[in-house]
Amino acid sequence: MRPVELVVGVLALQGDVREHLRALAGCGAQGRPVRRPEELDTVDALVVPGGESTTMSKLAVELGMLDPVRKRIEQGMPAYGSCAGMIMLASQVLDGRPDQQSFAGIDMAVRRNAFGRQVDSFEAPVVLAGVDGGPFHAVFIRAPWVERVGPGVEVLGRVSEGPAAGRIVAVRQGNLLATAFHPELTGDLRVHRLFVEVVRAARAPADGLAGAAGAGPPPRDPTEG
Ligand code: GLN
Repeated sequence: MRPVELVVGVLALQGDVREHLRALAGCGAQGRPVRRPEELDTVDALVVPGGESTTMSKLAVELGMLDPVRKRIEQGMPAYGSCAGMIMLASQVLDGRPDQQSFAGIDMAVRRNAFGRQVDSFEAPVVLAGVDGGPFHAVFIRAPWVERVGPGVEVLGRVSEGPAAGRIVAVRQGNLLATAFHPELTGDLRVHRLFVEVVRAARAPADGLAGAAGAGPPPRDPTEG
């Protein structure tokens, strides 16, 4: 049986959309920019890119995307957010703008620009639970960290060295995944692959049913001799 092609949207209001589309293609998923609610209806999952969460929030409100994305997430759509995308997926944003909105999927408090003004960006190895192949070379750019996680949230990775050692920078809650760093900028596809696996698993029951209904000859009519 041919594997079902997964369509993964990338929220294309602002940020590093192209880099995520490229990473998804590298994982064998079809990436698709999503700007409008009608486009959201056509995807199995959504990536929320890195960029600037205050701008993304503003545009999501203006373009009528806030509630549709929230609703799909509530209904179980897998989503992955990197950096600003992690902020957009958080139920609570610290140091946000007063009117800043989020899609509020993951039960966590995320602090914007947490690593301090003097460290705009840095790179560090991060060991990710469930990701083989050694520590992830993580690129942080004005990154948030996670200050509180709810009971349903699995911590996947923490900063391992330096003054911020121990800070949570990768999490998963069910079908929702978030990293404070930018795997889309490094060419290391392991986080995107993990996400595509989540998307595939989330689709599997539907595919199974469709497959069962479509496979083989139609059921025999029992009244036939
Ligand atoms: N500091 C940005 C924000 O608050 C995130 C930066 C990024 O995505 N690289 O949204």
